[in-house]
Amino acid sequence: MERVALSHGQSCSYRIQTSARSRKIRLRITAAEGLIVILPENAVLSREELEKLIRAKSRWITRHLQRFDQLRRTACEAETTTLPRSITLPSINEHWVIHYATPYPTTQHAKCSAPRVTIMGQGQLQVTGQIDHPVDATLALRAWIRSKANTVLPDWLGTLARELHLPFSRVTIRDQHTRWGSCTGNGRISLNCKLLLLPRVWVHYVLLHELCHTRIMNHGPHFWNLLSRYEPQARQISTEMRTAWQKLPDWLRTRRKSME
Ligand SMILES: [Zn+2]
Repeated sequence: MERVALSHGQSCSYRIQTSARSRKIRLRITAAEGLIVILPENAVLSREELEKLIRAKSRWITRHLQRFDQLRRTACEAETTTLPRSITLPSINEHWVIHYATPYPTTQHAKCSAPRVTIMGQGQLQVTGQIDHPVDATLALRAWIRSKANTVLPDWLGTLARELHLPFSRVTIRDQHTRWGSCTGNGRISLNCKLLLLPRVWVHYVLLHELCHTRIMNHGPHFWNLLSRYEPQARQISTEMRTAWQKLPDWLRTRRKSME
């Protein structure tokens, strides 16, 4: 591969290919290889002349390279938002199979309706509405996980708080991207709904961690002493949980600003 400076400060790499059939120099751009310069077998051309020739086509080259970049990005996005077939919630020992259905595909209404998640029966979810865009369907599933978390985590936290005499003032379930939980100075606890997708012992640890913050806000030795009193494995679990985000399925790791 060679590299050439284009006319507007950018540069691109290219590969030279000789062709017995070619009568003149041709430029080709493919998504897989980028720029290819096809030279007739008997072409006599200095590198300078060749690059001048490429530079003259700068606009055409960048336009096509950008288009391929865009295509590649779209393909990546599509891959991370493939419709999930099931959701496993180890924390509460539940497994849900997901069915996708568009109830009235011929009516305009159904075409426009946003995806909705309904429970069909034991361990069966159905997503209805427009599901041509996987991202919209996954947003509906995220909302379902959040509502599910709302029925589970506040009670779990409340029970633990009463048992350990560590009262908090309020609990909110969110769909955060960077933290599993948080606690403010006045005892307001936020919990990430995606905790449901983690092992039970990890969720227990996060709840304890936040409850201990109602007493001690920082992560100093006193905090760890208090936490270890309730959970002797606290430090070990904290280390293990560094891989927790990787345990989530891809579609739940996709960052969407609207979910903040
Ligand atoms: Zn903390």
